[in-house]
Amino acid sequence: MTHPANWIANSDRAIGGRTIVFDLDGVIADAGHRQHFLQAERSSDKDWHGFFHSCVDDPVVEQGRQLIGSISDEFCVVILTARIHETRKKTVTWLAANRVRHDWLILRGPREGAPSTEWKGHQLAQLREAGAEIELALDDDPRNTAMFRDMGLTAMYVHSGYYDDRDYDVEFR
Ligand SMILES: [Mg+2]
Repeated sequence: MTHPANWIANSDRAIGGRTIVFDLDGVIADAGHRQHFLQAERSSDKDWHGFFHSCVDDPVVEQGRQLIGSISDEFCVVILTARIHETRKKTVTWLAANRVRHDWLILRGPREGAPSTEWKGHQLAQLREAGAEIELALDDDPRNTAMFRDMGLTAMYVHSGYYDDRDYDVEFR
């Protein structure tokens, strides 16, 4: 099966069938040390380059790694992260170095600059079109868990604390 170039296989398992989707930052990768890059109020003033490229220094979230590692082989495990295309190599290397179980990694392709929630929603729709039956999706951004539920998915909110001081119009659940 052909798949988008930003879908990166980590096993022989094809996309499709029973699937669980994990977010990366705040769920498996501890991005707490780089949140300061995003302190500016306006998105255009935030240091996105500094934020994304320091991902190599993330400690692993041990509970997240154990949780994703505990998923049965019956499920296709997809890591869906809004990290930018330029971090592809670093992210692949980090996941291997930390032995994070997954079948597929999906991050942004070149020039895919849509807001995180919109971009992730589009990827999930594409996963469904490719035959994925998404039984659960986990994320630490309450805008994303709200979007998952709007798509009819079962969502699990993981509390990283990264979004606590942001003024969002959705509940943290
Ligand atoms: Mg996250």
